[in-house]
This record gives sequence, C-alpha cells and structure tokens, in this order.
Amino acid sequence: MSEPRLTVALTFDHDAISDGVRRGDTPVKLSHAEFGPRVGAPRILSFLAREGLPSTWFIPGHTLVTFPDNTEAIVAGGHELACHGWYHEDFSELTRDEARAVLERSRDALATVTGAQPAGFRAPYWALAPGTLALVEETGFRYDSSLMAGDVRPYRVRHGDRHTVADGTTWGREGHLVEVPVYWALDDWPHFEPGSARGGLAAPSAVLEIWTEELRWAWQHEPGGLLTLTMHPECIGRAHRMGVLERFVEAARGLDGIEFARLDRALERMGALAPR
Ligand SMILES: [Zn+2]
Repeated sequence: MSEPRLTVALTFDHDAISDGVRRGDTPVKLSHAEFGPRVGAPRILSFLAREGLPSTWFIPGHTLVTFPDNTEAIVAGGHELACHGWYHEDFSELTRDEARAVLERSRDALATVTGAQPAGFRAPYWALAPGTLALVEETGFRYDSSLMAGDVRPYRVRHGDRHTVADGTTWGREGHLVEVPVYWALDDWPHFEPGSARGGLAAPSAVLEIWTEELRWAWQHEPGGLLTLTMHPECIGRAHRMGVLERFVEAARGLDGIEFARLDRALERMGALAPR
C-alpha cells in the first residue's frame, strides 16, 4: 500500500468533569463539563462510526472510571485511548513525585481497560514543568502531544534544555519520546469556549476556514505530514459545531491520498514511534 500524501489525526481531549471535581467547581460549571460525556461524546462517536473514522482520545483517569459507558464505546469503536492525567492536573504545579504518581496511576488504569500499555500522553492545558516530559518517557510513554515547535512533522523531544538570562540557551539532548505538535488555532477550545484566550463563541465558519486552510497547505506543501486536530466533546459536540467536523472530513475526502489514523498507528507507520 502506498504511503498517504497526508495523514490526519482527529484527537479528542475527554476532560469531562475531572478538572471541575479537582477544583471544586459549582453546579453550572460542572454541568457544562458533563455535556461532554452525556451528549458530546456519544454524538461524536456515532459520527466517527458512520464515517468509518479512527481517532485518538486523551482521557483523564477520572473520566475513564466515572463514565464507563463512554469508555466502553470508545474502545468498542476501535479508537486509541491515551493519557491525560487523572484529575486533569496542571503538571507545571506538581512536584516530581506527584507527577510520577499521576502518570503511573493513569497509565495503569488505561492498560487495565485496553489490555495494552498506552502509547500517548497529552498534558492537560498543555502545561508542563521542565522535567515532566523526561518523566513521561521514563514511565513508558512513546509519544507526547503538548508542544508547538512544529506543525505537521513529528519530532524528538529534547530533555534538559537550559535557558538563563546570564548564559543564554544550552540545548538538551533528544530522547526517544516523539512529539506530535499541537497549536491553539487547531484546537476547538480557544475559539469556542467563553473565557478562553480568544474570547470564545466564534462562528463555526471561521474555525472551519482555519482548519481547512491548514489541511490544504499541508496536503499541497508537506507531503508525508501528519495534521493533528484537538477537540473536546463538550465543545465540538454542540449541535452547531458538529458541522465543522463534518465539513472538515468532507474537505479532506475531496483531496487525493488523505488518510485518517489514530496517532499510535500513524507514528508506527512513519517509523517515528519511540521504542518500548
Ligand atoms: Zn484537557
């Protein structure tokens, strides 16, 4: 089989109420998050099944065990499950021991559900402490998807970069962990959710334009690339936004040689997945 001209990864951060439980959110905020597992995720999973699309779900341990019907449906649909903390922790605020404990607990819970070690990690809020990704590598993950130093080319994560005003920058060494880069414009949350960096509640057409332009550029100019979208069920799963997903998939199918893939399988095929 020939290599796809462009691989597209649809990824979903299934935060549900994990973050709100940790922060002690009030009922309305919690209910906004609960829309994800109750309405958004089933709606998205039906769409993916209808279209025969694989995807990757970054799922906090709390979501995994609190919404077992969702978990079961994601696994049954053939989608990839990957780590997103337990209570959607901000890793930049955790000690090394706390971070390790969260990674191990989440990794083991995912392995219990799927019968295999999860390959992927994405930091909640894309927030990391300087040593977090070294820990992610040490705890057996094979790729991360939280950094932004690229767009459609996965790259190796460096560990131990040092930046000081006095001495400037000394680059660390590349490890085995592979980075699948992300970006705010390719994430539904900053466009749509009230209180987010861009103000939220954007018109779906504006977001569709950004996503399809990224798609067309990558398809035309970056053959062999991997384009990654980040979405949240409580956000993209709203009725007026599902059309963005539908039309994006339609646009991708209108171009030759585009393949949708789970991140673990896409990286494996590219020979980019870190060894166990
Ligand atoms: Zn998240």
